[in-house]
Amino acid sequence: MSESVAAERIHVLGSGYPIRGAYVLYWMQSAMRLTDNHALSHAAQLSAHHDIPLLVVVCLDDTYPDATDRSHTWFLSGVSDVILSLADAGIAFQVVRGSPPDSIASLLSEAAVLVTDDKPLRHHRAWLSACCDVATCPVHVVETAVVVPVSYAMEREAYSAAVLRPRLMKALSRFLDPVPVPRPSRKVRGDMELTEAKHLLGAYAGDVAPGTTHSGGGGERAALSQANSFLHTALHRYDTCRNDPSQDCTSHLSAYLHYGQLSPVTLIRDAIRSGGRGLEAFIEQVVVRRELAFNFVHFNKDYDTVLSLPSWASQTLLAHENDAREYIYTIRELEAAETHDPYWNAAQRQMVFSGYIHGYMRMYWGKKILEWTSSLNEAYHTALSLNNTYEIDGRDPNGYAGVAWVFGKHDRPWKERDIFGTIRYMNDRGLERKFDMGPYLQTHGL
Ligand SMILES: Cc1cc2nc3c(=O)[nH]c(=O)nc-3n(C[C@H](O)[C@H](O)[C@H](O)COP(=O)(O)OP(=O)(O)OC[C@H]3O[C@@H](n4cnc5c(N)ncnc54)[C@H](O)[C@@H]3O)c2cc1C
Repeated sequence: MSESVAAERIHVLGSGYPIRGAYVLYWMQSAMRLTDNHALSHAAQLSAHHDIPLLVVVCLDDTYPDATDRSHTWFLSGVSDVILSLADAGIAFQVVRGSPPDSIASLLSEAAVLVTDDKPLRHHRAWLSACCDVATCPVHVVETAVVVPVSYAMEREAYSAAVLRPRLMKALSRFLDPVPVPRPSRKVRGDMELTEAKHLLGAYAGDVAPGTTHSGGGGERAALSQANSFLHTALHRYDTCRNDPSQDCTSHLSAYLHYGQLSPVTLIRDAIRSGGRGLEAFIEQVVVRRELAFNFVHFNKDYDTVLSLPSWASQTLLAHENDAREYIYTIRELEAAETHDPYWNAAQRQMVFSGYIHGYMRMYWGKKILEWTSSLNEAYHTALSLNNTYEIDGRDPNGYAGVAWVFGKHDRPWKERDIFGTIRYMNDRGLERKFDMGPYLQTHGL
């Protein structure tokens, strides 16, 4: 156990202000957990060091970009779980409803320091910047969504996994230490009773996701249990079975990671402890691929448009944009899984009904959208829009990088062909050659 959070995770803004005020305010944005929450630990350390009580605040935002009933429900189950844990641990907290910069701004006037966890998406950055504009105290942003802090791993956008991998692997062991869970905090002005917070959550759930309960699916407890179960039953064969849609042996941890209900640090530390043949392949996904995605959204301001693509990829796609297409579907036909391709329809149905598509099928799903849509921009927008509407783990750096990968990002040129140009191609015969697709079709097809 490391006593303090690695300095490389902490970015201090407004350092000219003294640390003086009624509380150390931790704005829990995207790390909804107590375990290996470096931002919470750092806030608690500041609280102890300056002898100022700690107050954790969680915002419920009705207008969160691209949020759906499904995403609100998963998020709320995480909030329900984390406030229980905070109450159990005796840590003062408050739940507020409203847009983050306004809600946080109203608490800032009494804050000695604002600590928050980092998420490198555009709207999170804008909120943080709005808070910094009104703060008259230091603001500490703590990177706890990744194992290796993004700018420590590399100070510019990585062209591919090959560039980032050796840097991540070299730094990995340095960033895997557990961090302490805070001690109970003193009474602080503004903290809330659990019953009051639950009441607020219930009212919010009734408005944003009517008919659903906020206890379904997510939360730190469920995340740790799912991780434990995967590590004990499937990690040992992850290297050989992870690509097979019919075996479905992957971890199903992406939504927990997305909502910060599970730390990748906890996951990788436990995976290393479990060991076995699948470990290397699992580290490749959770650390290399996932942190390549964080590097992408952190350094590429166009992460959600075709402008993010390398020039070879956009050039080849534009050169083939007017190629004849055997099939063209509208976004509505795609959404309704009304294509000629049973595998694609099964993937789309899996997503619409369960909020998740198997990893290998996500690649196939995206490649076909590129093939069956009339322009590059429309294909890109369609893939992102469906992904972000239906995947529980959508609106994540991985989703932006995954869609960009379909169009050539982080990849290399392949053999030239119609429509795709030199972008990597996938087809149904490839699926049939590699896997027995029968069980996947049986489960998710009509
Ligand atoms: C078109 C497309 C869209 C995608 N959309 C999303 C998305 O919205 N949200 C999302 O989290 N992932 C997305 N991915 C990445 C990946 O497919 C999913 O993370 C993975 O399938 C989730 O299932 P799992 O947790 O069972 O994965 P596992 O195979 O068990 O992997 C464990 C973890 O490693 C990470 N990981 C695995 N594969 C990748 C990858 N290719 N890139 C980055 N990280 C990876 C994820 O955090 C995942 O939870 C997308 C990929 C593509 C090609």
